[in-house]
Amino acid sequence: MLNSSHLFFDLDRTLWDFDTNSRLALLEIFQNKTLHNILGVEFDEFYKTYVIENEKCWDDYRIGAMSKEVLRFERFLRTIQRFDRNDKELAIEMGDLYVATSPLKTALMEGTQEVLAQLKDKGYRMHIITNGFEEIQHVKLKNTGIDHFFEEIITSERAGVKKPHEQIFHHSLKLAKAAANDSVMIGDDLPVDILGAKAVGMKQVYFNPKAEPHQEEITKEIQSLKEMLAWT
Ligand SMILES: [Mg+2]
Repeated sequence: MLNSSHLFFDLDRTLWDFDTNSRLALLEIFQNKTLHNILGVEFDEFYKTYVIENEKCWDDYRIGAMSKEVLRFERFLRTIQRFDRNDKELAIEMGDLYVATSPLKTALMEGTQEVLAQLKDKGYRMHIITNGFEEIQHVKLKNTGIDHFFEEIITSERAGVKKPHEQIFHHSLKLAKAAANDSVMIGDDLPVDILGAKAVGMKQVYFNPKAEPHQEEITKEIQSLKEMLAWT
């Protein structure tokens, strides 16, 4: 049905379970830094607070009001401040630990291994296009044991621009020696993965597990990766 030879996957929240892995990393930090004693809270409350403060920091980052370097510790500083602990040194330590720990976590989105294996058997040529750093994204692919499924792994660091910039898609197609109309982008981010790919003439599979409503016309929409097996 897709009538294409090349499949380009997004990594975070499409194959690599970012939210589960992030929670696992935070739990490890919470335990190692004995935050239960320092902050006087249970992990679940700490985690809920972190999610809120992290999102606020990302909002500031997106509008250019916060740098990545500040965001790295500020989300932790604001979290511990909510529990009356104003300790920048601790926040910096937590930020460093988080960046070092989370890429090592290995939870994948449901069906990832099975779907990639079957697609490979069907003869698809598979690649990754991810907004992220070379070193970190390669660690994730290797530790989860899915790196061997992919031929080209294009990170925004390597490409010099981030999705949805058309240049990263052109660059990826060129590396894979693939034509746009013979290629599909699979991703969870509508403006970034899907509309970016659509703009350069690739087909698109929007992985939308929460069925978020939208008005866009997309080649295919799925709520679970396994749905792909029915029509690929
Ligand atoms: Mg993603």
